Amino acid sequence: MGKIIGIDLGTTNSVCAYMDRAEPRVIINEEGGRVTPSVVGFSRNGERFVGDVAKRQMLINPLATIHSIKRFMGKKYRDSRREQQAVNYLIAETASGDCGVEIEGRVYTPQEISAMVLQKLRRSAEDHLGESVTEAVITVPAYFTDSQRQATRDAATIAGLDCLRIINEPTAAALAYVHERKRRSTIAVYDFGGGTFDISLLEVDRDVAEVLATRGNNALGGADLDRRIVEWLVQRFQEENDLDVSNDAIVMQRLRDAAERAKLELSTATTTEIHLPFLVADSSGPRHLQTALTRATFERLTESHFQETVNECKQAMKDAGLRPGDLDEIIMVGGSSRIPRVQELVQGLFRRNLNKGFNPDEVVAVGAAINAGILEGEVKAVTLLDVTNFSLGIEVQGRRFAKLIEKNTTIPTQKTQLVSTVIDNQKTVKVHVLQGERPMAKDNVSLGEFELTNIQPSSRGAPRIQVQFSIDTNGIVNVTAEDLRTGITEKITIEAPTGLSKVEIDRMKEEADAAEAKTDLDKALKGLRDQVERKLVALEELLRENKPRLHKKDIFEVEQALKRGRMALIKSQDRKKLNELLTYISRYHTHLEHRLSNS
Ligand code: AMP
Repeated sequence: MGKIIGIDLGTTNSVCAYMDRAEPRVIINEEGGRVTPSVVGFSRNGERFVGDVAKRQMLINPLATIHSIKRFMGKKYRDSRREQQAVNYLIAETASGDCGVEIEGRVYTPQEISAMVLQKLRRSAEDHLGESVTEAVITVPAYFTDSQRQATRDAATIAGLDCLRIINEPTAAALAYVHERKRRSTIAVYDFGGGTFDISLLEVDRDVAEVLATRGNNALGGADLDRRIVEWLVQRFQEENDLDVSNDAIVMQRLRDAAERAKLELSTATTTEIHLPFLVADSSGPRHLQTALTRATFERLTESHFQETVNECKQAMKDAGLRPGDLDEIIMVGGSSRIPRVQELVQGLFRRNLNKGFNPDEVVAVGAAINAGILEGEVKAVTLLDVTNFSLGIEVQGRRFAKLIEKNTTIPTQKTQLVSTVIDNQKTVKVHVLQGERPMAKDNVSLGEFELTNIQPSSRGAPRIQVQFSIDTNGIVNVTAEDLRTGITEKITIEAPTGLSKVEIDRMKEEADAAEAKTDLDKALKGLRDQVERKLVALEELLRENKPRLHKKDIFEVEQALKRGRMALIKSQDRKKLNELLTYISRYHTHLEHRLSNS
């Protein structure tokens, strides 16, 4: 069995780790980084880049550089207005009403884009481990809905990874804590990342991690703080120059970039300079942006977001029946947890010093790797008692929502419900499954509808069909139904209103494989061209340094060979030709060396 890797597929950055003889290790990517930006860039000629290289092209080509794709995973287009404001690229509606990303006229699903990030992480792991990697444990925010979890799993499949477990990010962080501390405690994991916020309260011991309560907001993260700064900059620029730049994609990307940099600086400094020369130009010449942002102003602009996280924490404590003094440790996770005001608020709320012993960028991936180690049998098992974060139920008469499984129920869990017919001889029964907390069905997230067919004709209310709803350890909903009269059991697949069919996933996987093979080929060709180039340079040097010792005829021949070699390098696009060229130049090199040793 190959290694199972643990992946934190983040909104802003992703991290991959594995267990090396019971010790978690973060995998270094091709660029030498421990963290890979979750950014995918496309070039005009169809080339794709993932990670740092893509992030670098964000400023110059914002429409073809996709970041924060996690915000769109498993989302309906109509429900994504807030997310759309956080990005510069084009969000399109797919045929099934989901979100898609439009690049150069082609629509990609968020699953495909996430798969490109996962593919890069898989490749880094394979390079690092020297073996093929096909299995992973992937983390998701505790507040991910069923569709978002399904979408994450589909992204893994497209990237050639079998996602063995999906675990909640805070639970993964708690696993890392259990692995290191191995003592009984009540802990809070405060996870404030680039696009999401989660708070989880857990009871942990040597071999168990039990989630007591978890709350969060899937649409609140560092990018929202950046947006507040951008809005402030746009307003200042408008006041000073009477120019509205909010519709200029490139300018907005520059502002976003500068806003994030300023925010990072304000975590250590109390004031920062924002200087963007030549932001725009009009008939009166170029206009620059130059301003100072103080930590106090930043905190004023973003305080309401910080308070939102505090309110979620208070609510989670209420759900868990805990008081602030009951907690032993607070673990800070996610890049935004480094913000001083955030730390001040969290410390004040829980009345505890914060545990800063874990790297907030890596602790989730480390936890995922520990979970992978447990599955491999390399790490002593820790029982994870996670909870479902949404109530699960069905639509009943009056378009109301009837809860079957209450939120904060420990998973895996299941519940059965008897359904029947409402008119005589009714042949089918429709069941609408939803997740959420609101009383009316339409206000919750629809997971899908299914129909029970072939019900034997009988008077209304007579058929007794037992429908079983379950939530597995991955937080994914499954439904089965049994006709109690006939004993026939049906496994029902919810016709998900969001998500991809098996056929679509297979097609996307084929495309991803083909793109990966093309990247390999391009890389191999680049390597070969580089080899030829180096041989040519070496031959040029050998000739230059030894000209006085050589016959005119030899000099002429080598110069001709070099000329031909340079021309051929420009033209040769395939492996065979490049290999021939390599042999051709090597031959002249050996020939020249031979001449020199005899002279
Ligand atoms: P994550 O999703 O955990 O990778 O967090 C990424 C988010 O954290 C981004 O919005 C970053 O701008 C933000 N971030 C990272 N480091 C810092 C820092 N030192 N201060 C403030 N925000 C940070």
